[in-house]
Amino acid sequence: MSDAPTPLLRAEGLTKTHHGEGAPVHAVRGVDLVVRRGEFVAVTGPSGAGKSTLLHLLGGLQRPDSGSIWLDGERADGYGEARWAVERRTRVGIVFQFFNLVSDLSVADNVELPALLAGVPPRRARAERERLLAELGLGGKERGMPDELSGGEQQRVALARALVNHPPLLLADEPAGSLDSKGTRDVMRLLSRFHERGQAILLVTHDARLASAADRVITFFDGQIVDDVELADEPAAPRTGTSGVLELRD
Ligand code: ADP
Ligand code: MG
Repeated sequence: MSDAPTPLLRAEGLTKTHHGEGAPVHAVRGVDLVVRRGEFVAVTGPSGAGKSTLLHLLGGLQRPDSGSIWLDGERADGYGEARWAVERRTRVGIVFQFFNLVSDLSVADNVELPALLAGVPPRRARAERERLLAELGLGGKERGMPDELSGGEQQRVALARALVNHPPLLLADEPAGSLDSKGTRDVMRLLSRFHERGQAILLVTHDARLASAADRVITFFDGQIVDDVELADEPAAPRTGTSGVLELRD
């Protein structure tokens, strides 16, 4: 046995085949993965590579055909729906490309709901919601409804909802995928800020430029990890010119 600390997330030999119309699709074909506490990992790769399927397996939204998942050292692949629902409120926050807010709940209620469901006293849920929404620049929008907000604002609400119970791990599936460049920049900046405070993030993106915000970039292709590299802390040269969300001015 090694003395290495128990990773936040460990997966071994994950596979998942989708049986839809037509031939079965081998979306995830034997994935081993470790995410450590506080790490920011990007999973990048082309559309159809199986990134979303992998994230769904890791968040308990789909069941693997084979393989194992540990959350904080505890075997999780055998959890049922109800247990995964609890884990997603407490230990594994998730944000998606299309926000998935509850359309007939106010912004405030969307964010407080997971806290209340987790048994947090209403006053604390409210305080936490106020703190998060203020931090995310949504202080004046609490009484609004999701469809009154821009895409970028809705995604920030979704981020607040995912983080309201302080899950050690945030899973994010193309969280900027439906946003304009300003919304993308805002979401990426917020992810980086939460990461700087110790939030572990697994970010799925087909955009290699967004992946460069992470500590570590995994390349996914055809259901498998084909590359896994740590990025240097400091870029070798200032990131100017070309493209890249991170260098864009306000
Ligand atoms: P990515 O997120 O990298 O674009 P996905 O995990 O969404 O990849 O999809 C991987 C492959 O699995 C694709 O060929 C996709 O069409 C297929 N797929 C994904 N979900 C389903 C599903 N529910 N039923 C059938 N096929 C699916
Ligand atoms: Mg996807």
